[in-house]
Amino acid sequence: MSSPLDKYELVVGLEIHAQLMTHSKLFCSDSTEFGANPNTQVSPISLAHPGTLPKLNSKAIELAVKLGLALDCDIERENYFARKNYFYPDLPKGYQISQHTAPICKNGYITISTNEGKKAIQLNRIHMEEDAGKSIHDLDDHFTCIDLNRAGVPLLEIVTEPVIHSSEDAMLFLTELRKIVRWLEVCDGNMEEGSMRCDANVSVRLKGQNTLGKRVEVKNLNSIRNVKKAIDIEFERLVMLSENNQSIIQETRSFNADNNTTFSLRSKEDAEDYRYFPEPDLPPFSISEEDIKKIKESLPAMPHQLIEQYMLQYQLSPYDAENICNEKETIAFFNSIIAHCNHYKSIVNWIIGPIKQYCNDKSISIVEFPLTSQAIAELIDFTETGKVNFNNASTKILQALINNPGISTENVAISLNLIQEDNIDALMDWINEVIAAMPDKVKEYQSGKKGLIGLFAGEVKKKSKGKADMQKVNALLLEKLQ
Ligand code: ADP
Ligand code: MG
Repeated sequence: MSSPLDKYELVVGLEIHAQLMTHSKLFCSDSTEFGANPNTQVSPISLAHPGTLPKLNSKAIELAVKLGLALDCDIERENYFARKNYFYPDLPKGYQISQHTAPICKNGYITISTNEGKKAIQLNRIHMEEDAGKSIHDLDDHFTCIDLNRAGVPLLEIVTEPVIHSSEDAMLFLTELRKIVRWLEVCDGNMEEGSMRCDANVSVRLKGQNTLGKRVEVKNLNSIRNVKKAIDIEFERLVMLSENNQSIIQETRSFNADNNTTFSLRSKEDAEDYRYFPEPDLPPFSISEEDIKKIKESLPAMPHQLIEQYMLQYQLSPYDAENICNEKETIAFFNSIIAHCNHYKSIVNWIIGPIKQYCNDKSISIVEFPLTSQAIAELIDFTETGKVNFNNASTKILQALINNPGISTENVAISLNLIQEDNIDALMDWINEVIAAMPDKVKEYQSGKKGLIGLFAGEVKKKSKGKADMQKVNALLLEKLQ
C-alpha cells in the first residue's frame, strides 16, 4: 500500500553553528576554554560595560577563510560586521555582532557519498558571528541562571541551500562537515559540548513541484542523530497537515529528545525585527590576495584527496582507504606501521579490526594504543607468514603483548603454544588419517560435492589441536583429493 509520504518530497536546508578553535573570544582576550566555572571568563567587554570597545580577533578571520577555501567558496575581500538587535537576558549588549548581512564566504559545496552515488550539497554562505551567553533553566526552582563564559565566543554559521532531500543525506552532510572542520582544525566538532549545533529548516512539496513549501525551523539540535529524528518527525507532520488541507505556518520549533516530538516556540508573526545596521565600533576589514594565498598554501591535503592517493599507493580498496583516511590519527598510525611492514591490506584489517576494537573497549584514542608500531608490524608479519593464525594472533597474542611490554611475538607464541604447524610431512600425516577415516565422504567429494572440503579441513584442524597452518592444509587437501 502506498503511504501519503510517497507523494511528497522532503526539502531541507541546514544552518550549522561551529565554534572556532581560537584561544580567545571574537572581540576580546577572554578565554574560550570549555568547562570553566560559570562567569569566570568575562571581562568588561563580554559583560558589555559602558565605554568598552570590541577588537577583532584576526585568528577568526583566518579560520573562516580556511574553511571557505577548503569548501570552494567565493571569499569576500571587503568585509564588515553588523549589529543584530534583540533583547534577551543572556545577551548583555542587547545586540549580537554578526556578518549576517554580508558573509565572508559565499557559495561552495560539500560532497557526500550516498547509496545513490556522490552528491554535491550547495552552500549558501559561511559567516562569522559571536555567541550569546547560556541560560540555565533547570538549576534553580525560581530563577534562570546565566553563564556568560560563552558570550562573545567566535562562531561560524554555515548555511546550505535547500537542496537536501532525505534525513540520511542530512546526516551524511553533517558527518562530512564535522570531519572537515576537525581536519582543518577550525572547530573541534564536539556536539555534546555545543561546539557544533544545528538548526534544520524543513518543508515539503508534492513530487515534481519546483516551488518551495512553507518551512519550519527546528532549533539547536545537539547531535547528528537528533537532526535526523527531528527531520523525520517534521516530514511526517507537514505531510499530514498538507494531506488534511491544514495550513502550514512558518514557525520556529524545538525538538524534545525525551519523547521524540517537536513543539512550537514562536511563529513568523511574532518574529522580531532585528534592525541590522553596520557595527560602528569596528572598522571594516579587507582580506588581501596575499592573505588568501598564504592560507591556501597552508591547507592540508583533504581526506578525499588522501583516499585517492592511498588507494593508488598501497593498492587499498575505497572502503579500506576511507577507513584509514578518516582521521589524522589513524593515518599517522598506519604510516608508522608501514615503515616496518609492507602487508598493507593486513595492516588495514588489523587497524580497523582488533586495534580499533581494543581502543573502543578501553575508551582510548588510537594514539594511546599501548604497542609500538614495531611490535605491531612484527605481529602482522608473523601472521602473514603463517606462523600463527589471525584468530589467535588478534586475541591471545595481542593481549599477551599488551600485558608484557617488550616481549617478542615469537616468545609469546611459543609460550602459548600457538606456533602453527607448517611442516608438510606433519600436515600430510593428519590429512592422510582424516581421509582414511572417511572413505564415503571422499567418494561424495569426488563425485562433485566440493563443499565437503570444509569438513576435511575442519577434521585436520581438530587433529592438530588448532595448530595446523590451514592455508597450507587447504592447498594440500585439494591436491590430495584430485
Ligand atoms: P534566515 O534563517 O536568515 O531567514 P534563509 O531564509 O536564507 O535565512 O534560510 C535559512 C535556511 O533555511 C537555509 O539553510 C535555507 O536553505 C533554508 N530554507 C529556506 N527556505 C526553505 C524551504 N522552503 N524549505 C526548506 N529549507 C528552506
Ligand atoms: Mg535562520
